[in-house]
Parts: sequence; C-alpha cells; structure tokens
Amino acid sequence: MPTSEELAQWDRQHCWHAFTQMAEYKSLIVERAEGVWLYDTQGRRFLDGVSSMWCNLLGHCHPTINAAIGEQLRNVSHNTSLGMGNSTTSTLAKRLADLAPGDLQHVFFASDGSSAIEAALKMAFQYWQQCDSPRPKKTKYLALGQAYHGDTLGSASVGGIPRFHALFAPLLFEVIRVPSPDCRQEAQVYLDELEQTLAEHHEEIAAMVLEPLVQAAAGIVFHRPGYLAGVRELTRRYDVFLITDEIVTGFGRTGHMFACEAEDVVPDFLCLGKSLTGGYLPLSATITHPDIYAGFLGSATSGRALMHGHTYAGNPLAAAASLATLDVLEQEQTIETLPAKFEILAEVLERLSNHPRVAVTRQLGLIAAVELTPTDESHERYPAELRIAYEICDATLSRGVWLRPLGDVIVIMPPLTITAEELRFLGDVLLESIEEVTSAISTAKPVERS
Ligand SMILES: *Cc1c(COP(=O)(O)O)cnc(C)c1O
Repeated sequence: MPTSEELAQWDRQHCWHAFTQMAEYKSLIVERAEGVWLYDTQGRRFLDGVSSMWCNLLGHCHPTINAAIGEQLRNVSHNTSLGMGNSTTSTLAKRLADLAPGDLQHVFFASDGSSAIEAALKMAFQYWQQCDSPRPKKTKYLALGQAYHGDTLGSASVGGIPRFHALFAPLLFEVIRVPSPDCRQEAQVYLDELEQTLAEHHEEIAAMVLEPLVQAAAGIVFHRPGYLAGVRELTRRYDVFLITDEIVTGFGRTGHMFACEAEDVVPDFLCLGKSLTGGYLPLSATITHPDIYAGFLGSATSGRALMHGHTYAGNPLAAAASLATLDVLEQEQTIETLPAKFEILAEVLERLSNHPRVAVTRQLGLIAAVELTPTDESHERYPAELRIAYEICDATLSRGVWLRPLGDVIVIMPPLTITAEELRFLGDVLLESIEEVTSAISTAKPVERS
C-alpha cells in the first residue's frame, strides 16, 4: 500500500487536475466517503459542501445505489448502444421518458454534460437540414451572456464566461447572444430584448440554449420569475428550438424535479447530467419529443440517422446507478423533505449576511452564494489578487468543510440528504472562516463590483 506522502507526490507529479493551477496545488486526496462526508488519506474528514462539484445528490456510498451497481456488475458492465440495447439502459430510458415534462420521450445517452449539450446542438442542426420542410439557413444558436454549458468546443461556443471561454475564441463558432437575465431589471426588459433579437435573426437560428432559473458557473446568477416561461413563448412563436440545460438544476435541487416545472415549461431538448446517476458514474441524457425524432426517421440509406455518438453511451453500470437514484428519490421522498432544509439554509444565510464583510447572499432551493465586501458598501469587493473566496474556502477546509468557490463567489450546494445539523455546521464553519480571513486583511483596497 502506498503511503499518504507517496500518494500526494504521485498526485502532484502525474495527475493533471481540471481548472487547477498545478504550480500551487496542495494535494487533497480522498480515500473514501460516506453520506455528506469525505475522508482523506490522512484520516481527516470534511463535509462535501458543493456535492463534489454539484453532482452528488443523495450522499456518498448510499447502500441502495452501491448495491444496484454491484448487481449490474454481475450481469454486464458494458455493451455498445450502436444497433443494440441493454435491459438496464432501456429501463432507464423509459423511466426518464415518464419523468420528463410534456411529451419529451426520446432519450439519447452520453457520458458528460458537455456531450449532452453537443448532442442537442447537433440534433437541432441536423433536424432543420433534413426535416420534411427543411430550413437550411438555420445554422446558428442563441445563448445567454455568462452561460456555461461545458468545455467541449461546441458546448464552449454557446458558453459566454470570459474567464473560461475567451482564450479559445478563435476555435469557437459564432453565437448570437442576449444578456443574462440577472436580477438587475424586470424579466420583461430581457424578454423584450430577446424578442427583438428573435425577430431579426430567427430565420438563421436553429435553437436557443439556456440554463433555466440559475446560471451556476456564472457565479450562481438567478433569473427573475417569468423569464423562462417568456423564453418558451417567444422561441415557440419564432420557430426556434429551446434547449434547457438542467445539468445542475435537475433532480430536485431547486425544489422541483426539473427547474422547467417551476414555470410549466416543456423545452424541445432537455439536457441532464451530473446528478443523473446520483453523482456516482458518468452519464448524461438529451431528451426530445416525437416531432423532432420523426425528422430522423427514414430508410437505412436515407442518411437521416443521427450522425453522432460515443463508445460508452448509456453504460449499464451508470444506468443502474441512475435507476437506483430515482428509486431512492421516490422511496425516501427526498424532494418532499426539501422545503424544511431550504428554510434552514435560509437561516444559515441570514446569520452570514449579518457579518459586516458579507455583501450579499442569495439562495434558490439548495443552491446558495455568498459574496464579500471589504467595506460597508455591498457594491464593493475585494481585489481579485487576494482570492478572498479561495482563502476562505481554505479556512473552511481546516475546520472540516470542503467548498469550492467560483471566482469571488462562495458557493454552497450540498447533497440533498444533508441534515439540519450538518447544514448548521457548514454555516458555523463558514462564518468563523469569513471572520478569520477578513479580519487578517483589514487593509484591502476596494474594487467596484462588476
Ligand atoms: C457541469 C455543467 C455542464 C457540463 O457538464 P460536464 O459533465 O462537466 O461536461 C454543462 N452545463 C452546466 C449548467 C453545468 O453546470
């Protein structure tokens, strides 16, 4: 058995971590986990405060999900989805079709969220090229400012966060963009602007893509109520498909099974990922309705089949984890228990917001953000060089809570199974850490919040 020092050394030397400055990376190596708790190779335990990057839904090592994966392993680990099916994967497809809003019922599986978005983009494109009344000019996409839809080149093209995407601009395709409907103005202002853009460009737009209710990677930016329903109305009126990216919001995090349900919206493509397997194995899904699906049907030589796919699509181990996740959601009535937890998180945020260095807190369901200010003015922030949110999250780690911020924004997004006591612990640790870090840098020169 390698020692904890050896593992740290191998990790730093050979394991290139995503979105991590390796020159400054301090090894943190998880060995096992249970419920909301991660245990590292040194025997320390810490609360998984952002659900292992927003994907763990029901805690780690849930006995039902573990057992389902084990059972599947005894049958078959993987068989291709090209020209054949798998009993577990087909059962999951049927289950997702039943769960999805409206008549969404044709499920295309891939392994990552980015790939679910890629598939939706390409399906929309191919549909307009070959459907019964083709619209070959529809080759562009409409997306929101500050959008994040993944890191492959197609999903990054529809993304709009300069910090992630600007460098790669020469590689990305052109996208028509409307501003992120953050809470600075009424929903109608953004909808009016969207309508103008659609009126001008709808003939060339294949689809609009958006993260419903919350743009997570943008820094937990919430939308005004009514925006999503308004977008659905306008995209329908202008014959533009609507792709909703529920890779973060799916499976209860906002209090609804899917965020679209908050505004009774049925998109043309629903993209799921992250929590689809409870956060256990890589699986994503792009779900669409019969009208679009029909555009791909024809004889084997018609050239109409979807020309896209991945080797491990619909992997049965992942599908088994996903079916078990849906079972647990039902059996434990997880979503029904959430409103009480939302209240507790609201109390935690209320306490945090009383700290003089906390500028704003915001929350939707079990998704929350905390931002800081060096002064008593909530519109001012710490200079970026101080990496204030990272410093605070380093401090929470030493107290037993793992959080990963987005730039200046501290994110709280725990598994839905977190208990009231664990939520309060997270809040106490964060408050102490904010106090410790901000009192040590009392001389920071404020910068205007953008
Ligand atoms: C994480 C994320 C993706 C990308 O999913 P991957 O599995 O990382 O490829 C896409 N959209 C949103 C909203 C996400 O948060």
